Amino acid sequence: MTKNLISKSVAGISPSATEETSSMANKLKRQGIDIISFAQGEPDFDTPENIKEAAINAIKEGFTKYTDVPGIPELRKAVVDKFKRENGIDYEPDQIIICNGGKQALYEVFKTICEEGDQVLIPTPCYVSYTEQIKLTGAEPIFFKTKEENNFRPTFDEVLANITPKVKAFIINSPNNPTGSVIEKEQLKKISRLLVERGVYMITDEVYEHLIYGNRKHISVASLGEKEKEMSIIVNSVSKTYAMTGWRVGYAAGPREIVKAMNNLQGHATGNVNSIAQKATIEALNGTQEPVRNMVKEYEKRREYMVKKLNQIDGIKCQYPDGAFYTFPNVSALYGKEYDGIEIRSDIEVAKFFLTKAHVAVVPGAAFNYPDHVRFVFAKSLEEIKEGLDRIEKAIKELK
Ligand code: PMP
Repeated sequence: MTKNLISKSVAGISPSATEETSSMANKLKRQGIDIISFAQGEPDFDTPENIKEAAINAIKEGFTKYTDVPGIPELRKAVVDKFKRENGIDYEPDQIIICNGGKQALYEVFKTICEEGDQVLIPTPCYVSYTEQIKLTGAEPIFFKTKEENNFRPTFDEVLANITPKVKAFIINSPNNPTGSVIEKEQLKKISRLLVERGVYMITDEVYEHLIYGNRKHISVASLGEKEKEMSIIVNSVSKTYAMTGWRVGYAAGPREIVKAMNNLQGHATGNVNSIAQKATIEALNGTQEPVRNMVKEYEKRREYMVKKLNQIDGIKCQYPDGAFYTFPNVSALYGKEYDGIEIRSDIEVAKFFLTKAHVAVVPGAAFNYPDHVRFVFAKSLEEIKEGLDRIEKAIKELK
């Protein structure tokens, strides 16, 4: 009898579509083609100096051994203080776990609370990894589509209409990847009241909380009341806020029982997060926040330019994102047009057209379960944004 080489659960995982686009673009780059990539969702800034210094000191001091699995006490204390200071939420250190990025934190949350027979309800468009991580637990991700005219914010009625008795958890991602949309407090209150009533956990992915523009404010659902806090697990990370994507530090906070179980899981899977990166994260959270303010100011200028310019291009319609560093314009008006004898019929084909004719990489909306759109990253220099959008404008003018 032949045995399957790859287990059914892992064979069922789709490759990350964002990574696929990036690697297609990288391949063209290696061929010497000058590609402007708006595909990779990470800051173009370097990690601030004070954070790097803290890591260098950690190495010099020989802070190079295993640590407690959920993170060194000093770091968990820094995370507790951050929640108090920035979100108005009281946690104890044993309600905090430090993970290898928000990504591992999310996976551990799903693996810890979900299993076969459970459903997890996700508004779309959504971050690509939720779906695959949930499937790995045996649970079923189920979706509903937010409306473009609501700036992609989920509404109470949509949640109500899509909740089933099997739904164990609901995902809140505000500011959102890929739309940048931010849920307003009143809406969040109504939705969370319903979820609490129905005994549905809220997994709240707040990795973009500091990248927020204009008068918008980030509200964590766990700050809305004791019940909301008991039913919430917050996932956050230093990746986006402090330009630390490569350091791999994220964290989760929630009910003690859940965090303890996550700790058991992590203890056998990866153990502690890199000891040096933990020291750097203490500095990120406790040190000066000036670099963050400066980066946000820069992102805001780029957002302004990108949204205005996209809306000036024929066939592209773009909402204003309130946060993160993404725009998610509708490109369906380009369907039916032709280049090189190829008719464009989907967002995937729009992305291919941008790549081959304008040498600009974007991620198709289908990757986020929301076709007819593409995602642009504006964590790029203004020069690159200008050049990239000019190229797209020119390529579109040449369409038949
Ligand atoms: N959540 C969302 C919505 C994201 O966009 C990302 C990164 N792209 C993550 C979580 C995970 O980021 P990290 O693992 O670097 O913390």
